Amino acid sequence: MNIFGKPNAGKSTLLNALIGEKMAIVSPKVQTTRHRIKAILSESDYQIIFSDTPGIIEPKYKLHEKMMQAVKSGLEDADLAILLADVRDDINELDQIFRALKLKVPALVVLNKTDLIKDPLLLQQKETFFKNQSYCKKVLTISALNSTNLNELLEEILNNLSEGEPFYDTESLSDLPTRFFVSELIREKIYGLFQEELPYHSTVLVREYKEATGLVKISADIIVQRESQKAIIIGAKGSMIKKLGTMARLDIESFIGQKVFLELFVKVRPKWRDQDLYLKEYGYHG
Ligand code: GDP
Ligand code: MG
Repeated sequence: MNIFGKPNAGKSTLLNALIGEKMAIVSPKVQTTRHRIKAILSESDYQIIFSDTPGIIEPKYKLHEKMMQAVKSGLEDADLAILLADVRDDINELDQIFRALKLKVPALVVLNKTDLIKDPLLLQQKETFFKNQSYCKKVLTISALNSTNLNELLEEILNNLSEGEPFYDTESLSDLPTRFFVSELIREKIYGLFQEELPYHSTVLVREYKEATGLVKISADIIVQRESQKAIIIGAKGSMIKKLGTMARLDIESFIGQKVFLELFVKVRPKWRDQDLYLKEYGYHG
């Protein structure tokens, strides 16, 4: 069960809404989701494994190539695909992208952000267009943000999934380690606090995650490309990194349900996005 769509279509928002936990970070900036995130919805009578893929983009750096590999690997191991689109996007462009995926599994075309469309005719027109495409099994219209029509979507997903034994233990929300979500939560704050290219030039690596009595101690590196970026992240007298740290800590605490002691370090690694060694260390395996 994979969710595909252009950056900003609302994949992470939908995944969060369906799972009811802050599994995938949400940001108005594009390309926030660099990895494939798996989330597991376990109910007594069914289990759905969702993957949130990075947006479909043209590879520009090695990092982008790894992201596209994650998209492609997502195509191969699911029994249903959700093709998610911002309902305001150009339908011909969307159609081209969806075709280019050459899906081998049935797809639900899901038009998101219907809360932003005031003209019901326009919406109907777009629905009809996708209904007639060969890759499309059914069209649904939703608002992931307002949780509109999510039950219908869930029902449609269940109708299309193959029956089988639970694949993951029903307690686990995700197959990715908590560390990964911690680094994503920190990264989300970088996207929120800093402008322009800085967020795209940085990544986060959790160095230490240690449970002590009543507290989890976390040390993380924020990796940037230039000294000037390091200075911006730290801010005057450490004001920015302090703010970032506090925001991240509060979110991590509510995510893991424990008190957290968070230590952040900023490191300069020129061109980390173009070096395989760094990409591996920072968790981009493709
Ligand atoms: P992704 O790149 O596909 O993972 O997209 P995100 O989930 O990060 O969402 C991108 C932006 O669209 C965020 O600012 C979301 O709040 C916004 N968004 C997502 N779903 C909806 C929706 O149903 N309605 C509106 N108005 N905004 C949405
Ligand atoms: Mg996303």
